[in-house]
Amino acid sequence: MTAGLYVHIPFCSSRCSYCDFATGLYQSELAERYVRGLISEIRLSRHAGETIDTIYFGGGTPSLLAPSQLERILAALYDKFEITAGSEITLEINPGSATPEKLHAFRSLGVNRASFGAQTFDDAELAKLGRSHNTADALRTFADLRDADFANVSFDLIAGLPGQTLDGWQRNIKQALDLAPEHLSFYLLEVHSGTPLAEHIRRGIQPQPDEDLAGVMYEWMIEQALAAGYEHYEISNLCKPGFQSRHNVKYWTAAPYYGFGCSAHSYDGDTRRWANYRDVLKYLEMVESGGSPVVEEQQLSQTDVRAEALFLGMRMMQGVDLRRYRESFGVDLRDKHADDLDRFCEAGLVEFDGDLIRLTRTGALLSNEVFAAFV
Ligand code: SF4
Repeated sequence: MTAGLYVHIPFCSSRCSYCDFATGLYQSELAERYVRGLISEIRLSRHAGETIDTIYFGGGTPSLLAPSQLERILAALYDKFEITAGSEITLEINPGSATPEKLHAFRSLGVNRASFGAQTFDDAELAKLGRSHNTADALRTFADLRDADFANVSFDLIAGLPGQTLDGWQRNIKQALDLAPEHLSFYLLEVHSGTPLAEHIRRGIQPQPDEDLAGVMYEWMIEQALAAGYEHYEISNLCKPGFQSRHNVKYWTAAPYYGFGCSAHSYDGDTRRWANYRDVLKYLEMVESGGSPVVEEQQLSQTDVRAEALFLGMRMMQGVDLRRYRESFGVDLRDKHADDLDRFCEAGLVEFDGDLIRLTRTGALLSNEVFAAFV
């Protein structure tokens, strides 16, 4: 399978209260040093010459980079890999983080997909999340993206915020659907220990997120998006026909991907996974001295590969083909997990369609429970 590339840009203009990603505040000198470090790492890649059809700049807030910096990173990637014509090139862009001129410049460098961190269209909720933008910024940046000829835009939306009501969520989704992006990624808020949000909840400043209500929000959103012509193709992702995230599909279908930058993860498409140092300064120390930034490697056993093929594959709503699974791994899931499958079918969490096994919409909400039984 053709590989994808991931480039991590660990800088943001401010820190959101719920975030536990490997990211810090943007400083122009550090960002420039980091770009040089990334280019060094790319030049030393062991996967030179491989064919690539997706590139994903994630973070952090990659849109804080200057277009000239993005251009240098892309030049290093094009120099090292065989990047096919028509590759999907995604840049994560936060509202208010890029001027119209900058968006035009990114587009002219070949970026053809924007992953847009809208999160919610409610100013009070954005403030509670510590986001640096408001709804007006989001609407303006989205209009600027369209003006800059971005014809493939994905919104990130978060449900289950502390104090969020169903009514508020419904207004949010209507607003998102009115803007008609090509893709929607939808997350249930996770409260990570050590974040300001976790501390606010512990001290009673903000209420606990309501998981049951988040489930209702999920179902409601999927219904509305389906009615508006979207396909529900992965547990947390919907798209207009033809607009699946080609890069993210690689993660769920065991395709190879190579990550660059601090905290970036890679997979060779077979039995090897590896990850870079999470800390930006440690990462830079390694690449600047010509060393490897890899901090962790994992050799997968056949059991691991088999389990991953199942629980990653079942994230896709089309499901897993049991016959092909048996041919690849010599395991008949209907036999091996007969009791679990009966239980999940009865509970309406999974369903069979010929040789396909897939999650139902209710099963998608409780997917961790289903996957735990299989693993
Ligand atoms: S913009 Fe994203 S990566 Fe940056 S602090 Fe907020 S949630 Fe984290």
